[in-house]
Amino acid sequence: MTPAEETLKKYYGYSSFRPGQKEIIEQVSSGRDALVLMPTGGGKSLCYQIPALMLPGCAIVVSPLIALMNDQVEALCANGIPAAAIHSNRDEYTNRELLYDASQGRLKLLYISPERLMLELDHIVERLPISLIAIDEAHCISQWGHDFRPVYTQLSVLKQRFPNVPVMALTATADRLTREDIARALGLNNPFTYIGSFDRPNISLRVMNDPGKKQRLRIIASLIDKYHLDSGIVYCLSRKKTEAMHEALTEMGYKSVCYHAGLLPREREAAQKAFVNGEAQVVCATIAFGMGIDKSNIRWVVHNNIPGNIESYYQEIGRAGRDGLPAEALMFYNFADIITRRSFVDESGRREINNEKLDFMQRYAEATVCRRRILLSYFSEECIDDCGNCDNCRTPRQRFDGTILAQKALSAVIRVNNNEGIQTIVDILRASARKEILDKGYHMLRTYGAGRDLTPSEWNSYILQMIQLGLLEVAYEDNFHLRPTPLGMKVVKGLQKIELTIYEAPVYGKKTSARQEPKHVLSPDEQLLEQLKQLRKKLATEEKVADYVVFSDASLADMVTHQPEDIDAFADISGVSKVKLAKYGKKFLSVIRKHKGLKASPPIGTSQKETLILFDAGMSPEEIALLKKVSLSTIYTHLISWIDEGKLTDFRRLTTLEQYQTVSHLFDTDPDNAFSRLEGAMGIPGYIIRAVLAEKRARTS
Ligand code: ADP
Ligand code: ZN
Repeated sequence: MTPAEETLKKYYGYSSFRPGQKEIIEQVSSGRDALVLMPTGGGKSLCYQIPALMLPGCAIVVSPLIALMNDQVEALCANGIPAAAIHSNRDEYTNRELLYDASQGRLKLLYISPERLMLELDHIVERLPISLIAIDEAHCISQWGHDFRPVYTQLSVLKQRFPNVPVMALTATADRLTREDIARALGLNNPFTYIGSFDRPNISLRVMNDPGKKQRLRIIASLIDKYHLDSGIVYCLSRKKTEAMHEALTEMGYKSVCYHAGLLPREREAAQKAFVNGEAQVVCATIAFGMGIDKSNIRWVVHNNIPGNIESYYQEIGRAGRDGLPAEALMFYNFADIITRRSFVDESGRREINNEKLDFMQRYAEATVCRRRILLSYFSEECIDDCGNCDNCRTPRQRFDGTILAQKALSAVIRVNNNEGIQTIVDILRASARKEILDKGYHMLRTYGAGRDLTPSEWNSYILQMIQLGLLEVAYEDNFHLRPTPLGMKVVKGLQKIELTIYEAPVYGKKTSARQEPKHVLSPDEQLLEQLKQLRKKLATEEKVADYVVFSDASLADMVTHQPEDIDAFADISGVSKVKLAKYGKKFLSVIRKHKGLKASPPIGTSQKETLILFDAGMSPEEIALLKKVSLSTIYTHLISWIDEGKLTDFRRLTTLEQYQTVSHLFDTDPDNAFSRLEGAMGIPGYIIRAVLAEKRARTS
């Protein structure tokens, strides 16, 4: 047994190392810096804890989350390892005492928040015999990471202050660029880099176009039922949605808990506990849930709304199936969520990066190729085979051998020395005579015009697929230029074949210019949104109000998602008040219906409910008849049926008081002749008479 193995057995009771641990521990113990990328649950903590135990002195562990620190310290102390945490939630006296203990060599590990570390730096330099510095959640140092924390950038001084102490950066999530950022920002010196596999083949992947609220609930319920002995997580976009989901599931009789940042610490703890103990079958959570949760029998994760980036998505689905048994990840995708996410991005202060990340997430959701390959190539993991365990693999779109096509694109990329983005590559392949192309002499390249036979949209689609399949990568740090990956190089050299899915042209209007960048090519949903916005603009101008006064962006997005075909359905759109329904309903409906290839106006007279909605919205029967282009008598027939159902509250708007009294009186005194007398001599229309009678029926029943 090596000393490291002895330590492992002694303090943790484990008999062997997991992949990577041994090498990392050896390297760090011998004084080398390290960059460790391992999925959550991969066993990162041991990689610094064991060197800390083996080296003289005390290890400093920088961690951004107090709860996580406390958990770790608790676990270490339980194994008899002297460890402590210093942070703002603890009284100053204790913090001081702990620092003193550390300086006296009584602690092997000291966990500390980055803020605190910077404050205590001088103190620590003087007093502590530091064995190593471990930086957990190291991706927080990178602007490009999905969870940038400004305070982390201050950690760059550590290497200067402690030049002889090995520094380890650890993270569970970092794409290539973030990794490079981490190493550079921390000034790591020739770090030993370990990139663990992120593949979680036991988690099946599925993305479903949002089937609507009811159906979504049904699907979630079926997952709970299917795994009724285990549990699952539903991730929602906002606190409100989390609570709504929790209530809906509870109402259906499931044991659910709710978890989000708005709860009191006590409530959050209780929820987490109920979940971990298995008292709750499902937790409805915002992203705040799951940090540090070590529950192995989570069988499924549902994303009720699309996450903002691949990193979050992958971490969240990664909470399922930690025991290696089959688990399911399902995401509902709808366009409205993308819009909401975009508005978050706009407010995030890191617009460009976050937009780019969201674009990637959206492309994942809309992808036609193996989803696991997309995820793994995002984290620069090479994979050549489709996974067979995602929706796209199970019901594949039609494929073709795309090797030659991919070779053309790759060689165009190589011939411009990886110095161009998608658009220019497509232009070269298609022999564009654009000035820039000629100026740069690209028309002299061998590949110029090699892809003339395909349209720009086809090329855009295929190049995107190549990125998703990991043949090309986008150098975000370098003007979004394309460059081949090692896998791409194999394809160029003819060592690897590649399949692409056949491009299917979306049904666009003729106007869409093929010259646009792919992200500016409007999808059918985006086109509809555009039309709705134009209508909104027109109405707003007419009424001299701001656009959002007519409908908010969120309402328009909801219309795009649900594409209501009639007034009933339109009334369910978020932000459609009764007044707006009556005022704008028909107009917006006709845009939506035309978009769907239906006649502009909904079938006339089919809907009694529509009449009720309009009546409730304050329209008179005459106005409704005019709007619906039916007779007044028909409208009354509709309304009378609502009287019979007891759903019409405002009867008085149907007749005048005088009419009511006259009709009522005659029916009480001369029921046999009442109808003919009223209609004849008195000239009261039949539908008014029927309405009064209905009202009287309703009263007496
Ligand atoms: P990470 O920090 O990468 O998310 P942890 O370090 O918390 O993961 O490890 C996850 C779990 O795996 C912990 O319960 C840990 O004790 C356990 N573990 C780590 N290394 C080993 C090992 N070599 N053998 C068995 N269990 C291990
Ligand atoms: Zn697959």
